Amino acid sequence: MSAMCARMPLMENQNTCDRRHFMKIGALAATAAALPAGARAAAPAAEHGLADLPYAYDALEPSIDTKTMEIHHSRHHAAYVNNMKSALEGHAGLASLSLLALQSVISSVEDPSLQTTLRNNAGGHWNHEFFWNIMTPPDRSGSPGDALGTAIHDTFGGMEEFKKAFAAAGAGRFGSGWAWLIVRDGKLKVTSTPNQDNPLMTGIVPEEETGTPILGIDVWEHAYYLHYQNRRGDYMDAWWNVVDWASVSACYDSAVS
Ligand code: MN
Repeated sequence: MSAMCARMPLMENQNTCDRRHFMKIGALAATAAALPAGARAAAPAAEHGLADLPYAYDALEPSIDTKTMEIHHSRHHAAYVNNMKSALEGHAGLASLSLLALQSVISSVEDPSLQTTLRNNAGGHWNHEFFWNIMTPPDRSGSPGDALGTAIHDTFGGMEEFKKAFAAAGAGRFGSGWAWLIVRDGKLKVTSTPNQDNPLMTGIVPEEETGTPILGIDVWEHAYYLHYQNRRGDYMDAWWNVVDWASVSACYDSAVS
């Protein structure tokens, strides 16, 4: 339905999918933030608040249950936002960067406590906003666009092989973290990160795992435990039904353009 894409290198005015796609996000996501989407993405991180989901809490049933979505968004994501804002107080230079640009400079924050707090919370904020926007109700999931479909076939041998590689990355992530599909040097790559790290965090994640995220799944237990308990694999299997392939494809097209 909508996406908040990223691009590498992380220029301030280069941080979304094509503008037409991005305007669609604005109509959906701007209500809580009280900013048009373009202004929202460019806004200082300190003013980049929690947006409403682009669908209702029950819209991803049965893949993700209503209660999980509500707690995940209104409590977990909200906490990342609030913790990030508190941490940025008194740090005007960092606070003036966009949320996206902030990701790539966290490694250069000298105060180790502040660096960890931003890694966890500015990371958590960006990751979750991205996550909500690459999902959509199951009847709108669709399929990859032509360019992305071709790239998946050429890189992984086919959609099923790609899904297996992605699922393995999620299943293999011990404890909490994320599995990602990124564009790196124009090529697709499956990676994973611990905690709230993401592939935009240059200097923190291994260089060969940095790139532009176009798809990501939250494999923290808070993302699935109420419904799936310990069955992370079942959650990941069901999650494919709510992937918004139009948004993922738009992010891919943006990343390789
Ligand atoms: Mn989460």
